[in-house]
Amino acid sequence: MMTVEGGWSVALFGIGLLVLVAMLGCLHGGRLHDIILALKRNRTIVQESKTAKHGFEDAETRMRNARSFGVWWQTLSEMAQQMNFQSLGIWNHHRDHYVLTRAWSMPEGLFAAGKTMKLTLPLHKNGTIEWELRARIWINDFLELSGHQAMLLARLMDEFPPPEPQRETESLDRHLEMTVQSKADERAGESVTTLQTVVGTDHVPTPLDIMGIPVVPFESYDQALEYVERIVKSNSKSFWVAINPIKVYHAWHDSELRNLLLGADVGICDGVGVSIASRILHGRDIKRCTGCDLFFRLLSLASLKGWGVYLLGASTESNAAARLELQRSYPDLKIVGWQDGYFEDSRAVIRQINRSKAKLLFVAMGSPKQEQWISRHRRAIKANFCMGVGGSFDIAAGRLARAPKICRVAGAEFLYRLIREPRKRWRIQKVLIPYFVRVVEKKLVDLFISEEGRIDQA
Ligand code: UDP
Repeated sequence: MMTVEGGWSVALFGIGLLVLVAMLGCLHGGRLHDIILALKRNRTIVQESKTAKHGFEDAETRMRNARSFGVWWQTLSEMAQQMNFQSLGIWNHHRDHYVLTRAWSMPEGLFAAGKTMKLTLPLHKNGTIEWELRARIWINDFLELSGHQAMLLARLMDEFPPPEPQRETESLDRHLEMTVQSKADERAGESVTTLQTVVGTDHVPTPLDIMGIPVVPFESYDQALEYVERIVKSNSKSFWVAINPIKVYHAWHDSELRNLLLGADVGICDGVGVSIASRILHGRDIKRCTGCDLFFRLLSLASLKGWGVYLLGASTESNAAARLELQRSYPDLKIVGWQDGYFEDSRAVIRQINRSKAKLLFVAMGSPKQEQWISRHRRAIKANFCMGVGGSFDIAAGRLARAPKICRVAGAEFLYRLIREPRKRWRIQKVLIPYFVRVVEKKLVDLFISEEGRIDQA
């Protein structure tokens, strides 16, 4: 049992300790607070490093069994997500430039704003760079942690380069995907006998990054038509999407739309705002290649080549009027199938498209509905080329006036539409303001970072 003197000694010791802590606190003021913060920070770094290490070990085990490029990429993306990376891209070296072939970005709900670190890992083959893996890592004030994560990614790449040859394994992946799809189609009463590969952005000019969305800088409409001709000739499949600032803006807030735009094979420069952003961000113009103009030029090419086209979308009346007018303008055009854009049974429509043997499929159901529909069904659709064309059938039908040429040349169609339908268009176009604010903001941040880098190097 404790004696009275013993109790006094403990109490005095306690008081002494309190006085000492208080004195230390007073003496060092904010230092104590700093020490606690540093301890907390270290604990977070240790915990996050452990998570990263577990993610790495897990990825290592899975990579050992990855025989195809698809599994390799899936494993890499999952590890990137676990480690809080913001984006990943595989860039193939092609002649003197790089072509983006695979892209992953953090899903919307998990996307974190703030400082990021860029990492580029060249992957060599026979002494030359064949690929580049480009990653963006979230810093979150823990630069040492981001460095550790970058090191783990580099180690994984070193141990497990992408399975070779990519094209063979890719077509094997595609084959498996098509087999699965053909089973689904068989259930829908359609038997798939042909095997088509999906072409990526190979051989098209290197896409430019417009605020997270790749856009192909075609030199001219003729160059774009040339690529479509290649696609049809090689009986491959390609999904093109017209990129405008409104889509780019919504893609920042809607991960499904962002993944859809990243998953398209080619993004064309539909809106003048994309061209302006390119000039601000990259100091380089992208010539416009609008969805509507490309649609009419493709119809002309199709009538010359004898390719069948399928027109899906718009109201029954507008679709019929468009067919009539198009047949008048392009007498040799083979319109092998059509369907208005207000249907219930997508499978029945896909069966119709496939039976028509159309080479080109144009979908006019408004954005992003048309792109979502194509993206959801692109594997089942056998047409070589698919693209959403918005109100183009209404224009072809003469039910919707195109902006006068002077507006089109000046890139001011949006103003013309705004004046004609102020309420509807303002609702859609008001996002142009925050879009440009963010473009300028990004340019300033990039300038600031490169300036900082220069100061650091000096
Ligand atoms: N549309 C359709 N199905 C729908 C919704 C719209 O076929 O479920 C058609 C509509 O009739 C019109 C076109 O899609 O012909 C939409 O054109 P809009 O100008 O709104 O599209 P945008 O070019 O603005 O994307």
